[in-house]
Parts: sequence; structure tokens; C-alpha cells
Amino acid sequence: MSGKPTPAGVLLLAILDMLGGLILALIGLAISYILFVEVGDLALAQASVEELIGQNILTQIVLAIGPILTVTGVFLLVIGIGLLKGKSWARIAAIMYFAVIFVSGFLFLPSGIVAIVIAGLVIYYLFTPGVKSFFGKPQPIESRFSAVPPMPLSPPLPPPPPEEGIKYCGSCGTEMPREALFCPECGEKQ
Ligand SMILES: [Zn+2]
Repeated sequence: MSGKPTPAGVLLLAILDMLGGLILALIGLAISYILFVEVGDLALAQASVEELIGQNILTQIVLAIGPILTVTGVFLLVIGIGLLKGKSWARIAAIMYFAVIFVSGFLFLPSGIVAIVIAGLVIYYLFTPGVKSFFGKPQPIESRFSAVPPMPLSPPLPPPPPEEGIKYCGSCGTEMPREALFCPECGEKQ
């Protein structure tokens, strides 16, 4: 949850997405039911299982339509829920989904122009700053890198190593040569 109010356009998109997804999933289930259960029973009554499995590619494509619609519907439903919750992955998924619609609109011209315009508008909308910020859009790569604590310009210097050949008296602290056995100041044995 972002805690920010959901923009009206996002709300509309999410609701349409969820409704569409639900309807698509139900249609897919209905088609699957009819093809696999009703027609399947009928076909089984007339043919052997081997004959059914060995059906041509067209039959297999037809049989795949139901599950594909169901999966797509569930996918849309999940995107819709994600959009409502302001999840950034849902925004990305919606952009990709509408990009596919946008491109496939060109395959169905002239009526495909409707899909191109709608998908184009939705994609444009999803890139507007207000919508981006609602989705807590992941930071662009450059700023993600700069979010890493910058290297300190002058790293804290390690304490200077004690000078070679020098030691300090354990008793009075006087500096003396490392090899000295007694402190020259207080005479303490080192
Ligand atoms: Zn000393």
C-alpha cells in the first residue's frame, strides 16, 4: 500500500482490468468445460483415447483456447488488483500488456485503430508523473546507484603506525629506541 489516494484513471483501469479478467477467465472456463467435458464425452463415446490424443494440430489449438483465455483472465485480474494497490510491477505489467494490444492493433486495421488509440492513451497515462509517483516507480538506474552511500572523499585515516624503531616506556611514557632494555628517563626495565 502506498498510502496515497488512488488516481481516478488508475482506479478505472484497475476495475476494467479486473472485470475483463474475470469475464475472460469465466469464458475460458466455459469453453474448456464444453470442449473437454461435453464434446470430450461425446467424442469419447465414438472414438478411442488414442484417436483423440492423435488429433491434428488444429484440434489441439482449439482445445488450448479455453485454458489460454483462463490464464489471460487470471493474469488481468492479478494486474488489476496490483494496480489498485499501487504495485510498481502491476504498472509495468499493464504497460507491457497494452503495448501488446497496441502492436496487435496494426494487424487488424482499419478497426484495429481503436485498439491502437486506447492502448496508446493508457500507456501514455501510465507514464504521467502523478501516476508514476502513485506506483512508487522504481528509481532509474543512475539514482539507484547514487542511493548507495557515496564513498567518503577522505576516508577516515587509520591511526598512524608507530614509528619504526621507537617504543614508549610502560611506566613513564618516555620515547626510547625499540632495542632499549631500560627507560632512559625512569630506569624501568622494558
Ligand atoms: Zn620510564
